[in-house]
Amino acid sequence: MELNTELIDVLKTINKEKVICLLAPSFVVDFKYPKIILELRRIGFNKIVELTYSAKLINKEIHKQILENKKKQYICGNCPSVVKYIENKYPELKKNIMDIASPMVIMARFMKEKYPSHIIVFVGPCFSKKQEAKENKEVDYALTFKEINDMFLYAKKNGFYKKQENENKHFDKFYNDYTKIYPLSGAVAETMNTREILKPEEMIIADGIKEIDKAIMKFKENKKVRFLDMLFCTGGCVGGPGIISTETIEQREDRVIHYRDKSKNEKLGKNFGKFKYAENLSLKRK
Ligand code: SF4
Repeated sequence: MELNTELIDVLKTINKEKVICLLAPSFVVDFKYPKIILELRRIGFNKIVELTYSAKLINKEIHKQILENKKKQYICGNCPSVVKYIENKYPELKKNIMDIASPMVIMARFMKEKYPSHIIVFVGPCFSKKQEAKENKEVDYALTFKEINDMFLYAKKNGFYKKQENENKHFDKFYNDYTKIYPLSGAVAETMNTREILKPEEMIIADGIKEIDKAIMKFKENKKVRFLDMLFCTGGCVGGPGIISTETIEQREDRVIHYRDKSKNEKLGKNFGKFKYAENLSLKRK
């Protein structure tokens, strides 16, 4: 297994420095849980957290902003490709993108505050996060699932893969259960109880470029639409280009839902992420 020099450098950094992995919850499409946690620790990550906690913080903030200004139309800014697409193709709607950073950036900001000397590496299904990482100083590297899998193979052959005594196969702290479906289309609306604050006709959910264009047209034509929840890839992040799986979108969705359902029965205890941990954290987009 060959790795390009950039990835070899990242692997060496993970192996030598104190590094935190931010793992996107769509990992279950490509990897087994909890084996993935062991593999990440064995190539050198010190801490491994999911983005489920930042998703929970984002939900609360979206909920608050929608209630604060009942006249405004909002576009969820979780997906960096959607944000760039709107900035380039529909600049008149830039003002509608919520002033809330993405789950990756908020989780990185939160971890950087707690562990300022650690390097932050995002691992997920997305290429756009690479650009987003360059634009946000909180994230040092953004890797895809394909790249981390290649790294595992390279690390095993080249002495970077070390089993440890008393291995910890659990995520480190700041963990949440119900937001594990965030990589699915419509998950923001589903997990933040939108039904409490919006009527069905006030919200549009879309994924994939064709559906996004249609949704934006409806949003522009109908001022009663208050919230647009869109993900650029077909099916949402489970359809992201950095995913290895060749399963259908439905099969991938099933894996995410199964993982969420199983996690609901896990006793999270001290690993559970409470709102109060992030009371003073800025959630703002740059
Ligand atoms: S929908 Fe696609 S582009 Fe958007 S965040 Fe998910 S993987 Fe990235």
